[in-house]
Amino acid sequence: MFDSYSGYRLLSRLFTVLAVSLLVGLLVGKVLWVMLLACIALLVWHYRQISRLNFWLWRDRRLTPPNGSGSWEGIFNGIYRLQGKNRKRVSQLAFLLGRFRQGAEALPDAAVVLDAEHNIIWCNKLAQLMLGLVWPQDNGQRIDNLLRYPDFSKYLKDNDYDEPFELTDGHTDGRVLEIRIMGYGAGQSLLIARDITRVRQLEGMRKEFVANVSHELKTPLTVLQGYLEMMQGMAEPNSPNVKAMEQMQQQTNRMRSMVEQLLVLSRIEDAQGVNLENKVNMTLMMETLKEEANALSLDRYTIDVKFEADLDIYGNELQLRSACTNLVSNAIRYTEPGGTITIAWQRVPLGAKFSVTDTGEGIAPQHINRLTERFYRVDSARSRQNGGTGLGLAITKHALSHHQSELQISSRLGEGSCFSFIIPNRLLIGEDAKDSVVGETS
Ligand code: ADP
Repeated sequence: MFDSYSGYRLLSRLFTVLAVSLLVGLLVGKVLWVMLLACIALLVWHYRQISRLNFWLWRDRRLTPPNGSGSWEGIFNGIYRLQGKNRKRVSQLAFLLGRFRQGAEALPDAAVVLDAEHNIIWCNKLAQLMLGLVWPQDNGQRIDNLLRYPDFSKYLKDNDYDEPFELTDGHTDGRVLEIRIMGYGAGQSLLIARDITRVRQLEGMRKEFVANVSHELKTPLTVLQGYLEMMQGMAEPNSPNVKAMEQMQQQTNRMRSMVEQLLVLSRIEDAQGVNLENKVNMTLMMETLKEEANALSLDRYTIDVKFEADLDIYGNELQLRSACTNLVSNAIRYTEPGGTITIAWQRVPLGAKFSVTDTGEGIAPQHINRLTERFYRVDSARSRQNGGTGLGLAITKHALSHHQSELQISSRLGEGSCFSFIIPNRLLIGEDAKDSVVGETS
């Protein structure tokens, strides 16, 4: 057991020395001299202890401090006690660090810890394999100096990590990595990289398969339809086959529109963004939409079209037309005759807004988030009956994503729905917008 600090003991020792020297001084009749000698002896003794401590702190290789006596015993023992505490704390920290590293090594993804300046603090083995980092040599290096891709440097600089970054590595047979960065602690961040090459390959295969099947189905369907029309022309008016042939004609028509929609969807999905230098004349598009809506309405609905002239945009005309037509035809198909369809294109603070509002059946809230999934229909029988394929809104969603826009749906069951999207200011044709778009695409 070590001596702990005691102020009382220190003072009592000092007084004992002074009392003894006073006594000796009185005995020999030289109080001052004896007390002076005692003080000098005490000072020398303290200096000796200080020099022992100094030597041990700076020169001595022993871990334990020297043995002290008197008032210095508490100091030496106190240092020893502190040392023990620190050693315990360090070993606890090392244990925790070891466990954290073991956990990070067990991750199925590459993990890199970065500081506020994006310098590497630590990385796991998968990061060394996947990202080509060398540990510990790369400790302290900036991550964008080692992963030299301009898009990745821009992603880091923009500091907006809500969406993951997809990195296609041209050096390793087009391997695709998905990189996510999550901030934590004081300016630190964790970079997680996942190899998604296989996922992307499968996605590509699926798209190709759907596009090929749709394409291959087109010819047999055309042949079937041709023969059906011929047979319908030849059939006796009262023949029982007439009804069956009508049904067959309806079903082949449905199949054909589904195949066409599937082809449109795979074409839009495949398109790598939109050439933002193409101008879209929205006045002309709104006129066409009005004509189409009137043709579909057959005077059964009130069609109200409002648009601001000269509110044109940059984008892909075919894709935008597809998106708008789907919304207009849905509004008519899901509204009972006698209802009102309002189609609008107007300026809003964030850009230009296209909206189709109907007074139709409306959609229950639980369906709204799923409407843009392929083949998702609130009422399949109803959709089938009015010629729906379940692909219209999926096409709209993809077309809009190429125009930096999203489909907004608001609806009340039994009262009607409003489908809208906003084309952002940077895609509007105007002197200011033009400059920024040209700057963006060049
Ligand atoms: P569909 O070809 O079946 O219309 P869509 O992808 O265009 O496929 O639409 C998906 C589903 O969304 C439709 O089946 C329908 O249930 C619902 N829907 C779309 N537009 C409207 C609307 N204006 N009013 C009510 N329901 C709608």
